[in-house]
Amino acid sequence: MNPFQFDIRNLPVEGKHVAGSLPASFFQLPEKDSVKAESPMTYELDFVRDGKDIIVTGSLKALFSLECGRCLERFQQLVDLAEYESEVPIEKETTMDLTDMVREDILLALPNFPRCEDGNVDLRDCPAEGHFDPTDDPEVNEEPGADRGVWNALDQLK
Ligand SMILES: [Zn+2]
Repeated sequence: MNPFQFDIRNLPVEGKHVAGSLPASFFQLPEKDSVKAESPMTYELDFVRDGKDIIVTGSLKALFSLECGRCLERFQQLVDLAEYESEVPIEKETTMDLTDMVREDILLALPNFPRCEDGNVDLRDCPAEGHFDPTDDPEVNEEPGADRGVWNALDQLK
C-alpha cells in the first residue's frame, strides 16, 4: 500500500488526507551511502486538485545520520518540513504517484556539505574545528581583545 499514490478520477473534491509513518527503508538509500535514514518517516499530507494541478500540503519528518565532512564522525540531523507544500501538474487522468517527489524533497532538505556542528539533534562543536595551524588563523593576528566581547558573552552562557 502506497499512501502517496492515488487515482485522479477517484480523488474527492475536498481532497485526500493521508497520515502515518513509513519505515526508514522508504528512502532506498544504498548501504554504503554516508547518509542513513535512522527513523521511520512520518507524514501528514493533503492532496487537493486545483484545475490541472495537484496541490500537496502538510508535514514530513524523518531522522537521518550524516558524516561530518570535517571530523568524519557521524551525527544526527532531523528533517522537519512542518509546512511542506508542492504543486504537481496532472499529466494523465489516471493514477498519480508522488512517492519519488516526497522522497526527494526530504533528501534535498539535507545539507550538501554536512558539518556536525550544524546538526540539529545533538548540539556540539566539531572536534576537528580549530585544529588548524595557528599562523593561518586570522583571529590570532588580530589586535588582542578585538573580539573579546563576544567570547566573554559566550563564556557566560556555559
Ligand atoms: Zn565534525
